[in-house]
Amino acid sequence: MKTFTLTILGTTSAVPTSKRYTSAHILNVCEHYYLFDCGEATQIRIRQEKIPLSKVHHIFISHLHGDHFFGLFGLLSSFQLHRIVTDVYIYAHRPLKNIINTVLPYDEGNVNLHFVELNVDSYEQIYEDKHVKIFSFPLKHRIPVSAFVVKQKEELLKLRKEKIVEFGLSIKEMIDLKNGNDYVDSAGNVIPNDVFTYPPAKLKSYAYITDTIYDESIIPYIYNVDVLYHEATFTSKHANHATLSGHSTAQQAATIAQKANVGKLIIGHFSSRYNDRSIFLDEATQIFSNTILAEEGLKITF
Ligand SMILES: [Zn+2]
Repeated sequence: MKTFTLTILGTTSAVPTSKRYTSAHILNVCEHYYLFDCGEATQIRIRQEKIPLSKVHHIFISHLHGDHFFGLFGLLSSFQLHRIVTDVYIYAHRPLKNIINTVLPYDEGNVNLHFVELNVDSYEQIYEDKHVKIFSFPLKHRIPVSAFVVKQKEELLKLRKEKIVEFGLSIKEMIDLKNGNDYVDSAGNVIPNDVFTYPPAKLKSYAYITDTIYDESIIPYIYNVDVLYHEATFTSKHANHATLSGHSTAQQAATIAQKANVGKLIIGHFSSRYNDRSIFLDEATQIFSNTILAEEGLKITF
């Protein structure tokens, strides 16, 4: 089975504290790491979680508020100084390219920076490798924001090992079977494919939604995902403030999760005005029971 593990690096909105860090999630798919947002101190958090920095090549930035990207410069600088990685791909909105060139004007070290500009208007596929496809689409906030959805790619059928021996299958026959074809023996008899194969595990998926107002138009893009991260900056007591500042409440995040029929909801990006985060969980679970609070260091294996 393929590894699909999410580690939460930061959970607070706006201002980090001695124990709470700003937004960053890192997803490990078969030792390929995808970083979503890069708040202040993200490289320190990655080290604390014992994730190899050298494997972080793909960084997805949702929007250009500081709590989502101020950690990028420290991270890129470390890549340059220690020659940790050679190619880094940054998926973000256009202004970030100039910001990076301004903050890090000198091309030191061996890092090749590839900037991929996100479309701020529509749903699109932005990335693909042998394990996953990643999509982005716009959210509604005070400035342009992109959401990200990671979908595991379709896998081939699995072969029943005992049948390989029993029929003495050749490599070509095995490939044909894995692709769904029936088996034809030397006498011309057709044996159905499912004698030899079984379906691969259910494909996994993860959606990263921050920062946004309550917006039902996103539901088709996240429908049925295994794990939905949806920001919940405020509790219902401050629902008005959530709308005014372009954010969501815990109840709103849970309503989206419920309507989108997701497997699990993680809420985070909490305003630092709340010392007790259990209110968020209480409010969300009344609507969507399989909700958990984001915590620094929380790991979820799908
Ligand atoms: Zn934010």
